[in-house]
Amino acid sequence: MRGDERPVLKSMGGISEEFLDQLEAQVGDVAHPIGHNFLKHDLEHLIAKRPRLGQIIQAPIDTLWLNPLAFPRNPYHHLVKHYHDGRLATGHVNDPELDARLVFEVLANQLDAFAKLADVAPDELAAYHYLTTRMERAGGFDAVFSYLRGKCCPSYDEAAAAITRLLDGRACGLRVEQTLRRLSSPQNGWPMAYALSWITVAGGDSVMPPWVRAQFREASLIVRHLRDTSCKDPACNWCSEQNDPVRALERWFGFPSFRAKPVDPEGRPLQERIVDEAMSGNSLLGILPTGTGKSLCYQVPALSRFDKIGALTVVISPLVALMADQVQGMERAGISCSVTINGMMSMPERQDALDKVRMGDAGILIISPEQLRSTSIRSVLAQREVGLWAIDEAHCVSKWGHDFRPDYRYLGRFIREFSEDQPPAPVLCLTATAKPEVVADIIEHFQSKAGVELLPLDGGASRTNLAFEVRPTNKASKLSDVMNVLDALLPAEGRSGAVVYCSSRKETERVAEFLKSQGVDAAHFHAGMSADDKQVVQEQFRVGELRVIAATNAFGMGIDKPDIRLVVHADIPGSLENYLQEAGRAGRDREDAHCVLLFAADDVERQFRLTASSRLARHEIGAILKALRRIDERTKKDRQGRCNFW
Ligand code: ADP
Ligand code: MG
Repeated sequence: MRGDERPVLKSMGGISEEFLDQLEAQVGDVAHPIGHNFLKHDLEHLIAKRPRLGQIIQAPIDTLWLNPLAFPRNPYHHLVKHYHDGRLATGHVNDPELDARLVFEVLANQLDAFAKLADVAPDELAAYHYLTTRMERAGGFDAVFSYLRGKCCPSYDEAAAAITRLLDGRACGLRVEQTLRRLSSPQNGWPMAYALSWITVAGGDSVMPPWVRAQFREASLIVRHLRDTSCKDPACNWCSEQNDPVRALERWFGFPSFRAKPVDPEGRPLQERIVDEAMSGNSLLGILPTGTGKSLCYQVPALSRFDKIGALTVVISPLVALMADQVQGMERAGISCSVTINGMMSMPERQDALDKVRMGDAGILIISPEQLRSTSIRSVLAQREVGLWAIDEAHCVSKWGHDFRPDYRYLGRFIREFSEDQPPAPVLCLTATAKPEVVADIIEHFQSKAGVELLPLDGGASRTNLAFEVRPTNKASKLSDVMNVLDALLPAEGRSGAVVYCSSRKETERVAEFLKSQGVDAAHFHAGMSADDKQVVQEQFRVGELRVIAATNAFGMGIDKPDIRLVVHADIPGSLENYLQEAGRAGRDREDAHCVLLFAADDVERQFRLTASSRLARHEIGAILKALRRIDERTKKDRQGRCNFW
């Protein structure tokens, strides 16, 4: 289709020699053939059929290529809208003639957008002019920018000066110099143009279009090189501001420093070391005691990387309660770019969250490993550059851990497959479990399945602010023993709290009733309650309206209450690991707290019975198999019966 009055040339099915003759005649005197995705698609096919077209078409314009430069803020949106409107108006699903007509309109819009840039950011246009005209057949783009700027293409020196001014305060000075030196190579022109245009809108919600990342891989590598590769020179403004862990912590969370303890083998705060390693692109396994701030270890690098290169951090977490908690925690700190997707969400909620990831509003996506099997999750992830994989509660990978989750064992393979032929983004594993066989298992998993080497950084599991104590009790005195411990060790005033762990749901109710009768603000908590009730109890406990919770081990994971002053075990826990997890919820604020275990010999017997009853005996498996066979035979007979009948 020409811009003048000449009739449109159409071919119905197949391209004949005769059609190619007509096409040659039609484009013969056209200065700039244009198309959307024209250069790497239609033009290549046409030249394959008729090589002479390659000589005739010397100065084409591809509106797809120009689009991210003209509309750096979500270029994708703009085009989808265009097409959408056009299609809706005609009701045609596939209409090449309309598509061709739209290209004129798209180019006109792009020229408008660039014209505005000419006034406010002439350096940007000068840079694009130079960068888009390095390759062969660049006459069309030269024409666009010459027309807009009223000047011919800048020299290398002029372009380099314009780019240096543009990137001042937006990238590392040393990296800018290095990048400029590589611009003489013709293939680097367009990627550098895309890198620049993305950087002009960085820090917002814009993602580089997936087709740019696929077709011009260098573009995102250049962004990373410019903004996310510290030169370690204290005199560099960019790197000392943007690539420094402590500055990043201050900026996102307002904390003046990382936790002083635990420390790494060199005596540096472990949180800081982990964040530094992750920001430098290294993979590691961080072992920190519960309550020492593992979330921050991935949140800081995630936010920093989102800001610098627009990349997404995928956080794997085992429990919905933990996910919601992390999102809320960040919201309280004024950070709104984290999103969770889980099985508890309604369809519209899920859709909304998926859109946020696709369009680039989300910098952190928190999901359970099962979600990685979902096709909708996979397809939105494919739209984004993943800059970091954070595996929270990483001991779930290991069969030797106390919380083995089979789906965690799928992570390594997923990460490798997702990364295709590129090295995977850094993997940051976090856990409070330091058991040697668990640590070895986690490291082996990511090594063999994803080819990722995790550096283990162990902060030890010691919690010096917790005082442990065992007191004798018996069936008859248990309730009053609990009450005595509370009286002695839970401050009467304030909003701090205590948890009383019991081994059965009924017992939690009995204990809570008793405490209430004694005038304590108490409630019970167990897995038999509705989600709403659980939510209410947790929230009241968090803010201090409830001071004591009598709970089964269903309570705890995901409770972000720093000022639990006392954990009482009214019954002994199921295992030593459970005990550490549960007691470890006390004193997360690093202030003194007490952990009191009430011990009765009868209880040990009871626990053994409970443990035994949760195991399957051989004869039970046999009985289940038998029952399954019976069902199978019955359905077979049913089917036969039906066949005979018909
Ligand atoms: P973990 O996952 O290791 O059990 P969390 O990540 O839930 O611990 O953190 C526990 C609490 O510590 C949170 O309330 C968090 O805001 C706080 N915290 C973490 N790091 C710091 C820090 N450097 N300064 C102050 N508070 C911190
Ligand atoms: Mg945690």
